[in-house]
Amino acid sequence: MFRTLLATLLTTAIAFPAAAQGDHARYRALYKEMVETNTSLSVGSCTALAAKVAGHLKESGFPDSDLHPFAAPDHPKEGGLVAVLPGSDPKARPILLLGHLDVVEAKREDWTRDPFTLVEENGYFYGRGVADMKSLDAAWVLTLMRLKEEGFKHKRTIKLALTCGEETSTAFNGAGWLAEHERALIDAEFALNEGGGGRLDKDGKALIMTVQAAEKFPQNYTLEVTNPGGHSSRPVKKNAIYQLAAGLTKISQYEFPIAINDITRTYFAKMAGQVGGEMGAAMTAFAKDPKDLKAAAVIATDPSYNGILHTTCVATLLSAGHANNALPQRADANINCRIFPGTTPEEVRARLSELVADPEIKVTLADKRSEVPKGPQPLNPKVFGPVEQLTAKYWPGIPVVPQMSAGATDGAFLTPAGIPTYGVSGMFGDADGSGAHGLNEHMRVSSVYKGADFLYDIVKVYANEK
Ligand SMILES: [Zn+2]
Repeated sequence: MFRTLLATLLTTAIAFPAAAQGDHARYRALYKEMVETNTSLSVGSCTALAAKVAGHLKESGFPDSDLHPFAAPDHPKEGGLVAVLPGSDPKARPILLLGHLDVVEAKREDWTRDPFTLVEENGYFYGRGVADMKSLDAAWVLTLMRLKEEGFKHKRTIKLALTCGEETSTAFNGAGWLAEHERALIDAEFALNEGGGGRLDKDGKALIMTVQAAEKFPQNYTLEVTNPGGHSSRPVKKNAIYQLAAGLTKISQYEFPIAINDITRTYFAKMAGQVGGEMGAAMTAFAKDPKDLKAAAVIATDPSYNGILHTTCVATLLSAGHANNALPQRADANINCRIFPGTTPEEVRARLSELVADPEIKVTLADKRSEVPKGPQPLNPKVFGPVEQLTAKYWPGIPVVPQMSAGATDGAFLTPAGIPTYGVSGMFGDADGSGAHGLNEHMRVSSVYKGADFLYDIVKVYANEK
């Protein structure tokens, strides 16, 4: 069905301009500035980086009236920017390019290189945010600068929203704030966001291009045990730490039931041919029959695939006790769950509570990031068509497949506001996850430049779509 729609759409040929290689130096400078401007929640400032971006756009010819910096008064460092490049046809609906500027915390002492210096080494860029998602942010910004400078003629208005707070569920979220307070400013037929993109195999060969069209819902839970405590020289049977640890062990041994939807079924069916071997055979079998648990078990051996096979929950933070010579009065843990669409946060809470099987371990929802997003997005050929076309040009022969992300993005704030959001990115990450959120985050230099060229081209195609 999806293929047929695309085939019809793709009968209209579009001429693509040759990628302007000279812009790689410019891209690199922008990327470097973005990586080297610390935007972690603890000590960084998205507002500062948004201001630098606004300055560049201004130099490219954006009038102040098309630049909308924003920051909530109580979150002065978590601001962002909306930039508007008006199209010629008032009836053509805008497209929105969405990017988060903030990055996950990174400690210098844990990293091999300074996380806030863009290091190029052995064909890789290293630094916090080089993958998630300053490579894409820089591509969006440079695309807008170039289109403005080139006087590009386009029907649709192109909007860019750079926001903060995506990486920390408890932080002020700029995308959520825009959806609530500036809905008209960001209105679009659809938004392009992180979450999709290419995947390389371990030898760096392009395997697949994905378009994110669904995502799991992140939810944190607190497990807490309290106890009267006392002097550690006279231990008693009930100990908050042991009690919590016993509960956590039970959660660690549990696997949520295998689940499937149209997006993941199509994904596994298409991925099978690329992966081959035992894994490929398991994917084919599972796509045909989701009750084939043997096949699912093979797929689940890969953490990336396991993440889209079912709801997952994992302990991520632990805190207990108040002195090394006192019985703990309190022990708590954070369990981070990624909920498969169709299951509610409350159902998962109830399951965790059942698993720990101890009424003294309180299981509560720790936070609320956003409304539960709408289910899978429609497989809109207006979105997928240009990706198919340009992928065939840049990475001939690799399939384009819809994908569900195990991780969450700011799309979760836009879809409930009526802006269908898709993960479209030309960035190809390594099979190891590129160190995103972890240590020594990295992207292949060649992959970043090619991705930036792809994104420049694809925005031009979307901008003139009817
Ligand atoms: Zn991200």
